Parts: sequence; structure tokens; C-alpha cells
Amino acid sequence: MDHQVNVNDTLSYQEPAPIKDKENPFESMMERFDVAAEMLGLERGVYEYLKTPVKQVIVSIPIQMDNGEVEIFEGYRVIHNDILGPSKGGLRFAPDVNLDEIKALAAWMTWKCAVVNIPFGGAKGGVRCDPSKLTPVELEKITRRYTANMLDIFGEDRDIPAPDMGTNEQVMAWIMDTYSMHMKRTATAVVTGKPLIIGGSVGRREATGRGVMIVTLGAMEKLGMKPKETSVVVQGFGNVGSISAQLVQQQGCNVIGIGDVTGGYYNKKGLDVEKAIEWVRKHKVLNGFPGAEKITQAELLELECDVLVPAAKEDQITPKNAGKIKAKIICEGANGPTMAKADPILRDKGIVVIPDILANAGGVTVSYFEWVQDRVGYFWSIERVNRRLERMMKNAFEAVYSTAEHYKVSLRIGAYIIAIDKVARTLKLRGIYA
Ligand code: NAD
Repeated sequence: MDHQVNVNDTLSYQEPAPIKDKENPFESMMERFDVAAEMLGLERGVYEYLKTPVKQVIVSIPIQMDNGEVEIFEGYRVIHNDILGPSKGGLRFAPDVNLDEIKALAAWMTWKCAVVNIPFGGAKGGVRCDPSKLTPVELEKITRRYTANMLDIFGEDRDIPAPDMGTNEQVMAWIMDTYSMHMKRTATAVVTGKPLIIGGSVGRREATGRGVMIVTLGAMEKLGMKPKETSVVVQGFGNVGSISAQLVQQQGCNVIGIGDVTGGYYNKKGLDVEKAIEWVRKHKVLNGFPGAEKITQAELLELECDVLVPAAKEDQITPKNAGKIKAKIICEGANGPTMAKADPILRDKGIVVIPDILANAGGVTVSYFEWVQDRVGYFWSIERVNRRLERMMKNAFEAVYSTAEHYKVSLRIGAYIIAIDKVARTLKLRGIYA
């Protein structure tokens, strides 16, 4: 007789743990952190100190909506660490923002600032709301009330927000204005990523993509790859992806694949990135872009190519697809595009991964330049911004590369070692105030 499986039967064997499509971002960060901390032989107390955010703030934001109803939104700001200087990190407006995610992103900012050697600690903020469903007036009210709730947290010398998912230059302008009204002076340096006219920096918009290009070329040089013989695939065609694609193409690389939320676009002979940017400017998305074959998101990541730049979102390279990736170099334009569980698969395949905390740090580096310019009240030329960005990204890349060689670890763990070591040594020098 056939044995009918009853859903209530107790399973007599252990189900293998399912491969998750999404990782808990804090756990994912800690998996890498733990490896580096062990290599450095961190003392338990220092380990606990570096793991724990110094401040976690939750505020309620009551807003009278356009229809007259009052709605309450929840806002967060987490300062992970401020031992290297004022904390720095973006502000995210999204419907699924939560404290755990903000905690992980804040810690990432601490490591990112330390890797590129800028005098900032790490922070992140968020408001749980759907900006696509809010009117400009509602968005402005949320931003201003959130800022008013954070007056004791924010400050040019304390904590400096910047744009992230769902926020933009306009939101930064409202934060700057609200803070300035309360302080009774114009405080441009309290946020970065502002419009140029109110103290933004030239080159900020392109900075993350420019940083991606600089470290990609650095890794190519180490592997003896020449731009003219290098094919590149870029996932994500927003700020980071489109600029990265444009700049590596200008350096002579052949961009054969690009993609966005509408799918992948492939041309073995090479795509015209300028035309694709023009297309997106007109049509918002790549869909319908001529001169390329449409492929799926999955196919795009698995294309035969030399360099893959994931520049869309987190958890794109997973234990399921890591084995199928053919690129020699992965340059993480996005934050957290590779799941921690995919790291060993990529390592065994000999793929060089330039980790997010280094690869996309061009943005926060030029944010630092913006803060410096605001504080001095003297604004730099684009040449100066780009030259200094290039120098800082190259220095950071070389430091990560040699640390990884020294410890015989991946570039990711090398980057974490540099960052953790720097923050831990600063802690030792400053000591613990009691
Ligand atoms: P963006 O909104 O300008 O662009 C995102 C792009 O990804 C769009 O082209 C979108 O269509 C595409 N996309 C979204 N979902 C996708 C999916 N499932 N598959 C394929 N493509 C998809 O965002 P951005 O500013 O370019 O940021 C991209 C990533 O880089 C994020 O992880 C962000 O945190 C990170 N980052 C951005 C900056 C910056 O300065 N903008 C700095 C550091 C890190």
C-alpha cells in the first residue's frame, strides 16, 4: 500500500536548511566581521564594543496628510560608531525599513569610512514610509519633523546624514533648512548630497561610479588585464551602474551587458553606453533599448565576461548562482550584493571580489569633500575633486590589496581587517571614558 504522507507526520529526517533569497543584513555583516576580528585577535571587550551601536534612536513622526487625516510614521537613526569622527550615513525612506537593517547599514558605514581613511564614524537613518505614495507636501513634512526629532543627534560635528534609497537632494535641502532654522544660522555642513546651489559639491553625483571605475582598473592591472581586451557587465543602470558603465567604457573597456529592473540587455560586440543613458533619460528604464538583445536578470549575471559590476541592490549573488558566474573580477557597486554564503564559492572559483565597503566608497569620499568645502566656505573645481577622489580610492585599494596578500585572505576580509584595526587602535588611544 502506498504510504500517504500526512502533513501532520513528524519528519524523521533533518530537512536541509533552505537557501534564503534574503540575508539578515546584520548577520551577513557580522559573518565577515567575525573572520577579520579573529585574524586580528581582537580582545573580547573590543569585539563587543565594535559590534554594538553607540546610539539607536526611534522616533514617531505624526503628520497631517493632505486629506486631513493624521498618520504616524516611525523614524530611526543608528550611530554605530563615532570614534573616528562625526558619524556619517544616508537616510532611507522605504516601506520596509526596520531597525535591524539600519543597524547593519550603520556598521557598514563605519567600516567604509575607515577603509577609505576619512575622519568619520558610521551611521544610518530611515523612515518607514512609501515615498512613491506621498505627495511632495507630505514628504516635506515627514522630513522636517524627522529632522526636528533628531536635533540632538544631527550636527556638523556630530552626525551628518546624506541621501540613500527614497531620498534625494531635495530631502537634504529640507533637512539643512530645518536644522538651520532651529540653530538660527545657515548650517550647510549638517548634510551632504545637497543641491550645488546650497553647498553641494561638484562631482558628488558621479563619485560612486567613478570610484567603481578606479578600483576596477586597479584590480585589472593586478591581474594583467588590459582595458581594450576587457568585457564588462553591469547590473543596475541608475546612478551607480550607469556612471560606472560610462566611465569604464571611456577607459577603453567593452561594456557587453547592462540591466535594470526591466531585464538584461546584451550585445557581444559592445553596447553604446551613452545611448543607453540617453534612452533612460527619456524612457526612465532600459526596456526597448535598441542595439541589444534582451535577456533575463539571471542570464545577465551569468554572462561570459571579464568584469561584473552588481550595482542594483543587495543579495544578487547567492549560493545558487555564484557557481555560474564567469567573470574574473566582481566589483560591488551596490551595498551587500553578495550574500555571505556565496563568498566561499566565489573564492574557490578564483574570482576577485572588490568588496562594497571599498568599491562604492567613492560616494562617501566626495561627501567628505562636500563637508570640508562647506566648513571652509571655499568650493573646489571638478578637477580637484576628481583628482583627490582618485588618489584616495587608489590608496585605499592598494592598502586593501596588500593587507589581503599579507593575511592570505580575500579583498573583502582584507578591507574589514583594515577598518576594524583602525577603529580598534583609535579606541585604545582614546581609551574608555568612565
Ligand atoms: P538607483 O535607484 O539610482 O538605481 C538602481 C538601479 O537598479 C536601477 O536601474 C533599477 O532599475 C535597478 N534595479 C532595481 N532592482 C533591480 C533588480 N531586481 N534587478 C536588476 N536591476 C534592478 O540607485 P543607486 O544610487 O545607483 O544605488 C544602487 C546601489 O548602490 C544600492 O545598493 C546603493 O545602496 C548603492 N550605493 C549607492 C551610492 C550612491 O552614491 N548612489 C553610494 C554607495 C552605494
